[in-house]
Amino acid sequence: MTASHSPFVSLVGAGPGDPELLTLKAYRLIQAADVVVYDRLVSDEIMALVNPDAELLFVGKKLSQHCVPQDQINQILVDKALEGKHVVRLKGGDTFIFGRGGEELETLVEHNIGFEVVPGITAASGCSAYAGIPLTHRDHAQSVQFIAGHLKKEGRDIEWQSLAHNNHTLVFYMGLKQAPVIKTNLIAHGLASDTPCAIIERGTTSQQRVLTAQLCDLEDIANQAISPSLIIVGSVTRLHKKLSWFK
Ligand code: SAH
Repeated sequence: MTASHSPFVSLVGAGPGDPELLTLKAYRLIQAADVVVYDRLVSDEIMALVNPDAELLFVGKKLSQHCVPQDQINQILVDKALEGKHVVRLKGGDTFIFGRGGEELETLVEHNIGFEVVPGITAASGCSAYAGIPLTHRDHAQSVQFIAGHLKKEGRDIEWQSLAHNNHTLVFYMGLKQAPVIKTNLIAHGLASDTPCAIIERGTTSQQRVLTAQLCDLEDIANQAISPSLIIVGSVTRLHKKLSWFK
C-alpha cells in the first residue's frame, strides 16, 4: 500500500479459496494491514495469513441473511480509515464481480478517502480451472457470461433470450436456490433440455465437489449442493471428466 497516514483503504480480492491463488499484492497487503474487514467467502487458510496483530472485523454476508448491512460496512471502512489505520477490505473472488466493491468505493470518494483496488481471481475463473472446465473452447463455446442467479427484489429480470445460445457458456453465481427458474427459462428460450451443466461446490478448496447433469436435471444436483457453489451451463462442462485434475 502507499505508505501514508492519510486515510486509505485497499480493496482486495482474495480469490475463490485456495490461498495460493492470492496475488502477491494481496498477500503483501494482508500481512501489513492494521484492520482487515472481511466476508464469509474469505477462506480460513487465507485469514491465517493475515498480520496476527491486525484487528479483524467479520462482516460476512449470506443471501437473505446479511450480518452487517452494506451501509454499515461502508461506515466501518470510513471510520477505520479516518483513525489513520491501514485498512484492507478483503472480499472473496474479485471485488468488482458481484462483490459490491463499487458501492464501497463510492462511499470512500464521498469522504475523500484514498483507495486502491487489487483484483482477485473470480470464482468462475478459479473454480472452472480446478474443475477442468475451460470456459471457452473452439469446439464448444466462443463466449462466456457471468450472471447473478439470485433475483434482486426490485432488480431487473434476467434477459433469458440473450442467454440461450448453443455456443455460449453461462456461469451463474448465487444460483443454487434459483436452479428451477434457471432450468425452466433456459429451456423455454431454446436451450436443449439435454444441454450439459455442472455445479462446482467450494471450488479450489480441499472440499471441492463437482456435480454434473443435463439441464433438465439441474434441480437434482442443485438440491445436493451447498453454498458457495457455481452453476455452469454449456457443452464445455462435458470436458470435466476428461480434464479433471484437482483432487
Ligand atoms: N466476488 C466473488 C463473488 C461473490 S458472489 C467472486 O468474484 O468470485 C458469491 C457467489 O460466488 C457464491 O454464491 C458462489 O456462487 C460464488 N463462489 C464464490 N466462491 C466460490 C467457490 N469457492 N466455489 C464455488 N462458488 C463460489
